[in-house]
Parts: sequence; structure tokens; C-alpha cells
Amino acid sequence: MTYASHPFDALMDITARPKAVFVRGKGSYLWDESGKRYLDFMQGWAVNSLGHSPDVIADALAAQSALLLTPSPAFYNGPSLKLAKALIERSCFDQVFFANSGAEANEGAIKLARKYGSLYKNGAHEIITFEGGFHGRTLATMSASGKKAFEPLFEPKVPGFRKAKLNDIESVKALITRSTVAVMLEPIQGEAGVWPATDEFLRQLRALTRAHGLLLIFDEIQTGVGRTGKLFHYEHAGIEPDIMTLGKGIGGGVPLAVLLATENASCFEHGDQGGTFNGNPLMCAAGLAVLETVSRPEFLKATTDAGLFVESELQKLSARHGLGDVRGRGLLLALDLKLPIGPSIVAQAFAEGVLINSPQPDALRFMPALNVTREEISLMIGCLDAVLTKAGAARQVA
Ligand SMILES: *Cc1c(COP(=O)(O)O)cnc(C)c1O
Repeated sequence: MTYASHPFDALMDITARPKAVFVRGKGSYLWDESGKRYLDFMQGWAVNSLGHSPDVIADALAAQSALLLTPSPAFYNGPSLKLAKALIERSCFDQVFFANSGAEANEGAIKLARKYGSLYKNGAHEIITFEGGFHGRTLATMSASGKKAFEPLFEPKVPGFRKAKLNDIESVKALITRSTVAVMLEPIQGEAGVWPATDEFLRQLRALTRAHGLLLIFDEIQTGVGRTGKLFHYEHAGIEPDIMTLGKGIGGGVPLAVLLATENASCFEHGDQGGTFNGNPLMCAAGLAVLETVSRPEFLKATTDAGLFVESELQKLSARHGLGDVRGRGLLLALDLKLPIGPSIVAQAFAEGVLINSPQPDALRFMPALNVTREEISLMIGCLDAVLTKAGAARQVA
């Protein structure tokens, strides 16, 4: 073991991180070691649905941790049964499998589709996914993703994914062959910069997949659990997918993800799927606390209202600073900057104590806690206004 010269050096350097160490969070606020406070409009990438360390999750974890952590994935446990039932009662799906990360849930969705193909469609195994899509960082989910930067990495890729164009139904039709078993997409492409599939496109996809006997898989890891103002995004389009994955927001800050399937699509047999920590009672207790809170109609209504308020404030900002459109739905929104100034805006906002994210150089993404207040929204907008004013002045000088 070599002596690490700085505590940061003991971690693999997988991304550029600001040199701050975070020690505490509550609601929309985070504090670093020096005591500096940050207003958080990233929330761990749309993870902390109820903000930082909400009492309902802290209480659920404390109570469950004193009771039972892991009996064994080969035994039933109370919280996983309760959460499975709660998910099924609130969705169009009939069965669930719990996972520990979004990528793992998507791996499960891919395996389930391939299993379906082997049982019912003469071994059909190809899945049509989309350019710009993001489904995770395991080998199969990177292969399913349509992210340009992934293309040269970790070759050879897992075969069996063909990429269509979002909102272009003809591009999907053109890829269907006898080997096709499913179509998989994010209803709003999050990592690509918040690019929504239209409700019309989602309905066209449902009709097309039905006509060809293909499974429709929604990756709702970013859009699910109230993020867009409905409990699940598919409700906006008035359609029902065959398979859905949840991650991020369902755990409200702890590692929990879910693979959900309709009775027809739920075809795993013994030995096909499993995992040591899958469905452990500790994480499921947290998930249940989140789901019960978020699925209340008055909670979803408040999220929708907050989303409309952020959207209209961003539109005003955009008009004031000559920027582009506001995209997205609910509290998953992006502001088009029209220029590749995202990273510098993010860094300046960070210095001012506001956390926002730039998924692409020309866009800012906003994904605050679902229970963010109007006052917190106004504070964030005020800070962004000041940062954009400075950036504009700097451009005039340059
Ligand atoms: C974040 C994300 C994933 C991957 O989830 P992890 O928990 O990071 O593995 C997959 N799909 C979408 C749409 C995501 O936003």
C-alpha cells in the first residue's frame, strides 16, 4: 500500500469533483466540512425525492435496522412484501423484482425480455433502444445506451441492441426484424439533457409494439416516483408498458431499484435471476416510506405546481438573458443555454452555494426535491440570474 498524500487520492479518480467534503443534509440544503451551506437543485441526480435525510426515511431506517437487516434473499421479509404490494396497487404491473441500482434493474429488464423471446418468440433477443438514451454503466446497459461517449469504451459491447431515433416512429419500424423482442426507452432522456419523448410518440410505440408482439420497456429510473408530477411518467401518455424499471427516487437517497412486469411479461424461472442484497428489508423500508409519501394526490399536485413555477421562472430568465427553451416535465427540467457555458455556470453557482447540473455543455438541468418550496425556487432563480448576468457581462467584454 502506498501512502496517499491526500485523502482524495485513496479514491479512484473517475470524475472531476469540486474539492469540498459534504457532511450533512436536510431538505433542500447540504453543508460541507467548512460549514458552507448549499441550496441543492440536483439532489444526488434526482435521487432524494423528499430532500436530504427526511424524517420519514430516517425513522424507517432506524426502526428497520434495529429489527432485521438481511434474513437471506432466499427467505421472504415483511418490508419487501409490503413494498411490492404497494407498487403493484399503484401501477399497471403485476410482479416486481428488487435491485440495488438502476443499471442492475435494467440488466434485469434486458434479461427478462430475452427470456420472453426464448420462451415465446423463437429466441428473438434484439432490443431496439434510442440514440442519446442512457440506461446505466454495466456492460449490457452501456451497450443499450445511445450515448456517443460510450461507443469506443470497453469493446466488445454486448450485442443485440439497435438504435432508433426518439420521436421518429419510422426509425423504429425500420429496425424491427424476426429477432426483435422489445423496445426500450426513457420517456424523458435525462442524461442526454432532458429530451422528452412526446406523448404521441409513446402511444405510437405502444401501438407498434402491440402489433408486432414486442415488449415495451420504460426506463423510469429518472422519471418515475413523482418526478414528472404523476407517480409514473407512462400515465401522462395514457398507455401501459409491459416492463418498467425504477431507481434513483424510489429509495429517496438509499440504493434501491425495481424491475416491474405485467403478468404476461413476468416469465423468469427459478435460477434466472437473483442477488445477495436484492429486496433486503432495510432498503425496502425506506422505499415504502418514499412511495407512501409521494403517491398521495396532494403531494403530486404540489410537485406539479412546483414544476410549473420553476418552468415559468426559467422561461422569464431565458427571455431576460436571451437563452433558449425550457424542456421537460414536472421537476425534471432543462434550460437550453444555446452556448457551451453550462460547466462554467455550474461552477459559479457552486461558489455562490447553489447546486445545479449541466448534463450537456449547452444545458442546465434542475431536479430538486419533489417537496421543494417556492421560496427555495426563488432563491435558486435569483442566484442563477446573478450568475447569468455576470457571464453575459464577461461575454460582452471578451
Ligand atoms: C441513473 C439512470 C440509470 C442508472 O442508474 P444507476 O443507479 O446509476 O445504475 C439508468 N437509467 C436512467 C434513465 C437513469 O437516469
